[in-house]
This record gives sequence, structure tokens and C-alpha cells, in this order.
Amino acid sequence: MTLRVGVIGTGMIGRDHIRRLTEVVAGAEVVAVTDANEVAAKEAADNLAGATVHATGEDLIADDRVDAVIVCSWGPTHEQYVVASVEAGKPVFCEKPLATTTAACRRIMEAEVTSGKRLVQVGFMRRYDASYRALKQAIDSGAVGAPLIYYSGHRNPSVPEHYTKDMAIVDTAVHDFDVTRWLLGEELTSIRVLAAKPNSHGGDLQDPLLMILESSSGVLVNVETSVNIRYGYDIRGEVVGETGTAALAETGQIVLRRQNSVGVSVPEDWRERFISAYDVEFQEWINEVVSGAGLTGPSAWDGYAAQSVCDAGVQSLYSGDRIEIELGTKPSLYS
Ligand code: NAP
Repeated sequence: MTLRVGVIGTGMIGRDHIRRLTEVVAGAEVVAVTDANEVAAKEAADNLAGATVHATGEDLIADDRVDAVIVCSWGPTHEQYVVASVEAGKPVFCEKPLATTTAACRRIMEAEVTSGKRLVQVGFMRRYDASYRALKQAIDSGAVGAPLIYYSGHRNPSVPEHYTKDMAIVDTAVHDFDVTRWLLGEELTSIRVLAAKPNSHGGDLQDPLLMILESSSGVLVNVETSVNIRYGYDIRGEVVGETGTAALAETGQIVLRRQNSVGVSVPEDWRERFISAYDVEFQEWINEVVSGAGLTGPSAWDGYAAQSVCDAGVQSLYSGDRIEIELGTKPSLYS
């Protein structure tokens, strides 16, 4: 069976996912698109044989030809489309964030719990990256003993002009929060955000930031965001265990020796670094939706938990305080 998908939001990532669904992964066909910018939606549909351009996301969700929905619009619009998809009984892949407030994330979970089955997946693609999967395997196998400390580094060469200081947490570090929870298999229970001496390339931003978090069993987590570091897009991850350490390997494809130096290349941006992860993420999502075996990817609970860490992080950024993260009871649907 071919999964017929509708894509809400044909901006940068929406178009990239349409390309991926059309040219890279198997088993899906994009049959409908919509965007607040009608010209952008029509341009996206021009390359898709027989795709319908809908005036609104709600119209797309109600389209009988659409089996599953992909939400790639702006974060504040995610809740309405994810809830509408769940209420229509359609699987929905939502780009991160699941929603921009924890209250909205809770409303999404309530809708999904009422539906009685998992329909929502959140676009935390690092879980599909080969090096992160190897790191998780090393942790789970006990190769380094029980984890005690996890270090996560998130470095961007630069950020666009619309990037505000909160975005270092809600847009950038949100990926580190999710992947840390996943690697450790634990919730994060507190966060303190510290601003370092500012990078002179960062304008008014507080950059870099150093975040100190604790997990439910007491693992200390250290997240660094450096979003104006110029040299490349560099993602670091290292677990310090009781008997050893395991770290993400360098990602360059060759080791270059020249002019008295040896090194690997550093990716230009996140698209280059995680291109294969996005492909695997969508192939697994399509396979799971089509087979009816049930979704195993990042859930609405994961989206809610990551958003809760973000909210506490922003609070800490402004107050300087260590903030506790209270998630409440996890619905059994997500156990
Ligand atoms: P973008 O290029 O600005 O695209 C968003 C598109 O959604 C724009 O065309 C926008 O139209 C449209 N839109 C806004 N409100 C809408 C609505 N109510 N209904 C339908 N379309 C609407 O942004 P982007 O970079 O693609 O990001 C989109 C989402 O993906 C964000 O949530 C972002 O955080 C996420 N993302 C995730 C990753 C990842 O690593 N997983 C990477 C990139 C982005 P206008 O321009 O006319 O407003």
C-alpha cells in the first residue's frame, strides 16, 4: 500500500520533506499540500502529479485522499493541526516543536489519549542518526557502565537575524534535551542556564549558553549552545560512565592529511549533518503507519517533556535560578 500524505506548511523543511517523500524514501505519495502562503503551496504542488492545493490545513486533513498528515508550518500553528488530525483518526507527523506551550502539548495528549491509540509522532530526528543510535547502543549494553555525566554540544556557525535569545533554548537546545532523555531513558528534572562571556559575533544574543541539568537518577547533563561559532555545524555528545566513556565520532567522511595537519571536515549546517537521519526517520514512520504495527518514534509525551524542559530553561535564563521540571503523571498510552 502507498501511504497518501498531505503536507501542511511548504516552507524550507516542508519542501525538503516533500523532496524526501517523493525522491528518497519508499511507500509514500504526497497527494495534498497547503500553506498560509498560497504561492508557496502552488509552487510545491507544481512538481507533484495530481496533488491538491488546499486553502487551509483543516481542509487538507478532511480530504478523503489524505491517509496521514505532516505538519511543517510555524510552531504556534502545530496544536490546531495535530489535534484536528487526531480527531480525524489520521496519523500525524509533526515537526518539532510539538507545540509552543506545555498547555498546548497537554491538550494534544488529551486528544490522543481520548482517541485510544498513538497517532502522533514528533520530528526529533537525532534518534534516527546512525552515530546517536550507536551511542545509545553502547549505553544500553553497559559498555561504559552506568552513565554518570552526559555532555551535549550544539554549535552553529551563525543564526538568522530573526533568532532571539530564547531560541537558543526552544529552537536549538530542544534537540539536545530530547536526545538526552532518549539516550539515558530518564526524564530531566531540573535545569540552570548560565550565559558565558558573549561571543562578539552574536550581537545582542546571550551566546554561548551553558545549561546544567539533572536526570531523575542524578545523571548530570551539560548542554552547550554556541550559535555564532563560525567554524561549522558541530554536534558533540559524550557519556561518562562508571567504567568508560562513549562519544559521537567525528562525522567527516575522509581523514585529510596535508600541510602539516590532519583532520576531518565539519558540516556546513544541520541539513548536511542530519540528512540521512531525516531519511531514516521518514522511512520508519511510513513503514510503521502502513503496517499498522504501531508508532515507536518520538511521541506526544516526548514532545511535551522536551517543551517542559524548554519552558524551565527560558525561566532560568531570565532569573538565573535552578528550575525544577514537573511533568506530572505519564498517561499509560505512552508507557
Ligand atoms: P518556514 O520556512 O518559515 O516555513 C513555514 C511555512 O509555514 C511558511 O511557508 C509559512 O508561511 C507557513 N505557515 C505559517 N502559518 C501557517 C498556517 N497557519 N497554515 C499553513 N502554513 C502556515 O519554516 P521552517 O524552517 O520550514 O520550519 C517549519 C517547522 O519545522 C518549525 O516548527 C521548525 O521548528 C521545524 N523545523 C524542524 C527542523 C528539525 O531539525 N527537525 C529543522 C527545521 C525546521 P508564511 O511564510 O507565509 O508565514
